[in-house]
Amino acid sequence: MKLTCVSRELHPRHAFRISRGRRTEVRNVFVRLERDGLAGYGEASPNAFYDETWEGVMAKIEMARGFIETLDLQTVAGLEASWGMVWELVAPSRAAQCALDVALWDWLARRRGVSVTELMWSRKPAPVTTFCTIGLSSAEELAMKFQEMRRFPWIKIKSDAEASLRTLEYVRSRSTAQLAMDANCAWGAADLRALSKALKKLRVAFIEQPYPPERDAEIARSRSVLPLIADESCIVEGDVPRVAPLYDGFNIKLVKCGGLTPARRMLLRGKVLHRKMMVGCMLESSALIAAGAVIAQRTDYADLDGAWLLGDDPFRGWQFAGGVLTPPTVPGLGVEPEAGLFEAPSS
Ligand SMILES: [Mg+2]
Repeated sequence: MKLTCVSRELHPRHAFRISRGRRTEVRNVFVRLERDGLAGYGEASPNAFYDETWEGVMAKIEMARGFIETLDLQTVAGLEASWGMVWELVAPSRAAQCALDVALWDWLARRRGVSVTELMWSRKPAPVTTFCTIGLSSAEELAMKFQEMRRFPWIKIKSDAEASLRTLEYVRSRSTAQLAMDANCAWGAADLRALSKALKKLRVAFIEQPYPPERDAEIARSRSVLPLIADESCIVEGDVPRVAPLYDGFNIKLVKCGGLTPARRMLLRGKVLHRKMMVGCMLESSALIAAGAVIAQRTDYADLDGAWLLGDDPFRGWQFAGGVLTPPTVPGLGVEPEAGLFEAPSS
């Protein structure tokens, strides 16, 4: 397979820029694999929280070039085997593994003339309702963001150490959406039981990652009255046995775990353990969102608003409208890059 790898800076649409001086631009890595006149696409959204950078991911993908160039993929079993081989070459970068794995799934599905959903789950892809997220916002920003989302069916609200309910109350008083709260590890000092009771009154469905991972042991003692979903505490497959007894569910992200191959296994494991399953995303293009939507075919919740938040999405894929992603009807992931993306200089 011919491997092409480029990086591209992505920018959130104006309304979703995070203020307060935080750098919001991200630089994602895009992969194209070609063989027999077919192309497969993959993406990684390197995140500093997981010690990944775009330069590091691109360097790791180069380490796998020799293996990828001799690869002749025929079956899903072959794909799963190559996932393991790729890991030996790109470790410890799960993001690099993700970009290559997603491109291999796309390529194999195109070769078979089916969608990746059909290749993975033996059924046609269905539309996916997704959470759309309101980040930390000033009053003006909140009004602007909510205006776009006021009829969306699922809304997720980010919280910080202050654990303020202001944004939540604002949204709840104007929307009948299913709501969720994502604390991003920030509620270490909060009384989780009291907070969960207040959130339940506001008809919040669940709380995501209230404490930082190092405080997982305290989760069970928090006596939350709402389901608790792990995100930063559940990164790779190996975390599932430890996290499943503590949390009510977990949030799978392809770039955390290393692509579609392990995401499928995490999902199936979580279902056996009767956990609530969610698939999430970083700020990423329609290429990686399309891969997330394949996992979302079997999860309880999807949080795949990453491409919708972008002002400069370099891929076309699943169509976003009103908080719902609708699948394309073409083979593979159903994504196509904008002209010139893979000809662009990579820095
Ligand atoms: Mg989260």
